[in-house]
Formats: sequence, C-alpha cells, structure tokens
Amino acid sequence: MAKIFEKPFTQQEPISEKTIARVVEILRGGRLHRYNSIAGEPSEASLLETEYAAWQRARYCLATTSGGQAMQIALRAAGVKPGAKVLANAYTLAPVPGAIFAVGGVPVLVEIDANWHTDMDDLQAKAKTSGAKYFMLSHMRGHIADMDAIVEICEVHKITLIEDCAHTMGAKWKGIRSGNFGDIACFSTQTYKHMNSGEGGLLTTNNPEFAARAVVASGSYMLYGAHGAIPAEEVFRKVRLDSPNCSARLDNLRAAILRGQLPLLEQNIERWNVRYRILESGLRAATGVNIVERKQHEAFVGSSLQFQVSGPAAADVLDFLARCSARGVDIKWFGGTEPVAFTSRYDSWHYLGELAPLPTTIEVLATTCDIRVPLTFSENDCRDIVEIIAEEAVRQRANPS
Ligand SMILES: *Cc1c(COP(=O)(O)O)cnc(C)c1O
Repeated sequence: MAKIFEKPFTQQEPISEKTIARVVEILRGGRLHRYNSIAGEPSEASLLETEYAAWQRARYCLATTSGGQAMQIALRAAGVKPGAKVLANAYTLAPVPGAIFAVGGVPVLVEIDANWHTDMDDLQAKAKTSGAKYFMLSHMRGHIADMDAIVEICEVHKITLIEDCAHTMGAKWKGIRSGNFGDIACFSTQTYKHMNSGEGGLLTTNNPEFAARAVVASGSYMLYGAHGAIPAEEVFRKVRLDSPNCSARLDNLRAAILRGQLPLLEQNIERWNVRYRILESGLRAATGVNIVERKQHEAFVGSSLQFQVSGPAAADVLDFLARCSARGVDIKWFGGTEPVAFTSRYDSWHYLGELAPLPTTIEVLATTCDIRVPLTFSENDCRDIVEIIAEEAVRQRANPS
C-alpha cells in the first residue's frame, strides 16, 4: 500500500493557555479598542509595538490590521503619490500589487532569477530607466536577495526601500534581521506567517517622519501620543494634518495574542528549520526534484520550502500535483496561468493594466513548487512527505489522455 499522509498543511499550533487567559481578561474588561485604555496604562497594542520594536531592533513600530495595510501605509508614509512609479519584484503575493495600486502607484515589475531573488541586472536597468523613487522588495518565500547590492542600487538612484518581510520575520542577512536594510519594513501576522493573530500586521522604521505619518495614517486621530514606539511630538506636529486616515488600527485582543507569541519566535524559527532541513536533505536526494542551494549569509526561516521539478513531474506538473495530493501531500504551484488559493503570477493582476513581459520570471515559476511547513508536523511527518514526493516525482503519467 502506498503511504498516505494524513495531516493538513494549514494547521497551526494552538494559542497557549496563558494567552487565552489574557485574551479572556481583556474581553471581560471590554476595552478592546487600542485607544480605550485607563489613564496611565498603556494598551496591549502599544505594548506589542514597544516589544516588537525592541525585538526587531528598530526605533519605531506600528501595529496594523494586516500586512497589506502595513504596506499601503508604508507606501503613503514614504510619500508615494498617485502616478508615482514603484519598483517591485514580480514574484510575490497579491497584497503587494494590491497595496501599490491602492495608493495610486504604478508598479514597475522586476524579473527574478533562478533562485527566486530579485534579478540585479533587471533591477539596475529599471531603477535607471524608469526613474522610480520607491522599491517594494518582497522577500518572497523567505529568499533574501543580495542586500548589499540592493541597498547600493537604492542609494545610487535615491530610491526609498520598503521591505515586505511577510516571509522573513526573524530571518537574517549577514547577521542583521530582515527589515533593517530598507527605510520601512512590513510584516504580516496573518495565520500562515511566523506569528498568528488571524489577521494583523506590523510596520517598523527608524525614520521619525515616516513613523509619525504611518501612525497617523493608521487612524490614530489625535491620540497618537498613546503609542509606545513613536518619535517626538514635534515630528507629529509637522505631519499630522497631512496623512489620510486608513483606519487600520490593531485591536487589543490580537495584540495580546501576538504578545504571547513574540517570546517564542526565536525557538519556533529553530523548530521550523529542523523540519526544513529534513525536507531539504531528503528531497535533495530525490530524482526530478531540485532544491536550490541557499546563500550562506542568509539565516532563513524554513516555514515553507520551494523546489523546481524536472523530468516526468515537470512534463505534467498538474498531474504530479494531483498524484501527490491524492496521497495527502498538498503542493502549490506558482506557474499556473490561473491563480489558485494563495498563489498568483504577476500576469493575473489584470487591474494593473498592460505589463511588460517578464520571460525569466514566467520560466522560473513554471517549474516552481511550494509546500508549507507548519509546526504541527513532526520530524517523521517530514520524512513521510519526502518519501511521497520522491516517489511521485519519477512516476510517469499512468493514462495519458
Ligand atoms: C501574507 C503576505 C503579505 C501580507 O498579507 P496580509 O494577508 O495582508 O497580512 C504580504 N506579502 C506577502 C509576500 C505575503 O505572503
């Protein structure tokens, strides 16, 4: 009998009893809104911001209702006005083009290379020819590009760099946490990311003006003084009447859920990586499955794993996915022309209008497969997944139609 894998790929770990108790306590108090606090008592949302800023080693932090909202607010805070061009690597998820579009920005999509990183030559060329003054860099699926090169290109062309760290919360490049290379960083705490509050986002920056604009834009009214990780009052005085209200404030319940998880993040990263390493070494030994060698100065978080298929699996990717799925292994494919679940290819964002073709990105994604690695998987689960993928990758289609 062929092995069948039984666990769902979307099951996260439970919220701790201690956090549940804290959430219930907040519910009993009835003060769920972040500005509804007793005088002199910082709200749960403000405490989260202070703690996350310290953890991320950023000066300022803002909690938002989603990662997508954090990105929209970051673009506004950085000064993107309707019609402004925004560079963005083309391999990303729908919240990125959505955020750029929402603020009236015009995306200039940049090719990726075979390692899923931003293609430096294309970035260099488009930074020069497009005149874009913003770059929304998505560290897609946790693959961090050469940040020295990216920062240099941004400096030369006076480009404001916004990092989308939805998949790199806690990851490092040359020992520095992802999100500390650009001018603003955005994180997501949606269920499938590295902290889980259902929905939620965080924005960090060291730039006082960007921070003040972001706080006001999140919908602070004139209550911004209740935040913990913010610049001085005079910075707010300068910007507070110029930032549109996006009503994207995080509430105290979700802030409490995140405060309970932040102290566990570091050890969870190690737990993800233990699982990732089993999958990686197992799949590396398999035929028809190619795992890209990751750069040594990248300390990634193995919460998902990408591989390229070749041979029979690549000849009919949908058939390979269906066979793995029939055995309980849920693999996503980034190459499909129709967006499925969370995957999307840049040419499916029709609202962006006509886009210049990106042949390399399409070619790389055509063979790119992806699996989630939830912490509810045991090390043995990972071995079972390897076995199933390895078997199916070499199998020819049974009944070619
Ligand atoms: C999840 C995600 C975001 C933010 O998503 P939200 O669901 O809005 O929190 C942004 N970029 C990428 C690449 C993501 O995967």
